[in-house]
Amino acid sequence: MICIFGGTFDPVHFGHLRPALDVQQALGIACVHLLPCRVPPHRAAPLVTAEQRLELLQLAVADEPALEIDERELHRDGPSYMVDTLESLRTAHGDEPVCLALGMDALRGLERWHRWQDIPALCHLVVMHRPGSPWPQQGTLADRLSSACVTDASALEKQPAGCVIGFPVTQMAVSSTQIRDLLAAGQSPRYLLPDAVLNRIRQEKWYAN
Ligand code: ATP
Repeated sequence: MICIFGGTFDPVHFGHLRPALDVQQALGIACVHLLPCRVPPHRAAPLVTAEQRLELLQLAVADEPALEIDERELHRDGPSYMVDTLESLRTAHGDEPVCLALGMDALRGLERWHRWQDIPALCHLVVMHRPGSPWPQQGTLADRLSSACVTDASALEKQPAGCVIGFPVTQMAVSSTQIRDLLAAGQSPRYLLPDAVLNRIRQEKWYAN
């Protein structure tokens, strides 16, 4: 079983890393693949380049074999649509189960994703609870999710795609926005992200106004 965790990682922080490790352990798989996007299609452009975000991600997971980096979106031109990424994984891995880990806030915006209706046929959704983001209760997305929900992670191994499971990962009210804001204000975001990442940001004066 493969699990990817896509994001802008602008910059990576402990709210990405600890939940990703929780998911890896809950699924009992060797690693989760962190997948930085090149051009996020559904939000403002990142403040640093894709190469700089990748470098920070590499520093963050350097000594953690359970978190690997998948660079496929960085090598693709145009908007980094998740559906394209999932189709490339499906081509490479046939019927092997593929999980897409995403935070609850990202799930709530799923209907805005390019070809979102095609995504359940390509992967399972592993939804990480996030402070401040409740499970969607009404509408097309809520209906679609409720019919696919499972509570036992072993169900994910029995079919290639199509299930939705919620995980109560470690709750960390940290966001990249908070870190960017602190840095822009000349304040310290220490203890919200790995020291190696922060040291590099400071060295290069990234995110400073
Ligand atoms: P920004 O503040 O710039 O919007 P972010 O902190 O939400 O960034 P992203 O890189 O946009 O980080 O998020 C990538 C993925 O990680 C998304 O699926 C998001 O829901 C999830 N995620 C980010 N922070 C957390 C967190 N603290 N807890 C759980 N999931 C998170």
